Amino acid sequence: TGATIYSPERDINDRRRLELVVELGQAIAEGRLTVDYQPQIDSHRRTLTSVEALVRWTSRRYGVVGPDEFVPLAECSGLIGQLTEFVLMRAASDVAALHRAGYEIGVAVNLSTRNLLDGELGATVENVLQTSGLPASALTLEITEGTLMREPERNAVILATLRDRGVRVSIDDFGTGYSSLAYLKHLPAQELKIDRAFIKGLEHDSGDRAIVAAVVGLAHDLGLEVVAEGVESASLLEVVTELGCDLVQGYHLGRPMPIETIRSLLAARA
Ligand code: C2E
Ligand code: MG
Ligand code: MG
Repeated sequence: TGATIYSPERDINDRRRLELVVELGQAIAEGRLTVDYQPQIDSHRRTLTSVEALVRWTSRRYGVVGPDEFVPLAECSGLIGQLTEFVLMRAASDVAALHRAGYEIGVAVNLSTRNLLDGELGATVENVLQTSGLPASALTLEITEGTLMREPERNAVILATLRDRGVRVSIDDFGTGYSSLAYLKHLPAQELKIDRAFIKGLEHDSGDRAIVAAVVGLAHDLGLEVVAEGVESASLLEVVTELGCDLVQGYHLGRPMPIETIRSLLAARA
């Protein structure tokens, strides 16, 4: 807006934000972030087939800070490239170790808008695959529908390159981004995650039920797998399975947990 008179009420960079940004930069550089993994279950076979990597941070000054707060901070302060690279590398090496132990599950990593814009994503992913030894087909990159729709043509080109490398692409939080359904067929994606907002009311809201049924049908016709997010109860699990969702994820199936716990679950199953 050009020049204006400073007023503290309008300053979104309050003390907490500024201190968090500084400490976050150090935490990333020193490898103090951690990654938890949430199980994704095959709805018909009821087996753990993949996990979603979710970044975690405990600030020395403020305690546990959620990714909903610090990921946007990383995005607007130039730290998101490093953050994403850290999570990708950690997730790929953790899951590659599981592969070597005979548990060949997949892993999904979340990307931010800026990761698609900065032009380095392809090289980063290649380096991560080479270094970790994880097969490309075991890696899924999740991009929110809102991010995809910001620059659809450009993003489609970048995603097509990743798909050609053998990496899976998933559209996260589907239903919140107002994309034209017709556009879906042009996206080089293999998976669609229906946002929790539509899942949670499924048992009581016939409107949500109709929406999810329609999205599942459309996605399957386009060759996409469907993940139901936010499945919090056994009864909800029944409904999403009946509606044809291929994978399910949510507190009922397991909260995000350390990789060691995932390994124990896989060992118990074996
Ligand atoms: P998301 O990718 O949609 O991840 C799912 C979020 O829903 C996670 O929150 C997960 O803990 C939560 N969740 C899973 N099951 C349930 C459930 O049954 N009920 C409820 N109420 N919530 C459930 P989390 O870990 O706080 O992450 C929030 C968001 O932060 C993620 O949403 C993602 O957009 C972002 N995020 C997390 N890790 C990363 C990362 O490494 N990189 C980037 N760029 N973003 C990340
Ligand atoms: Mg996600
Ligand atoms: Mg989501």
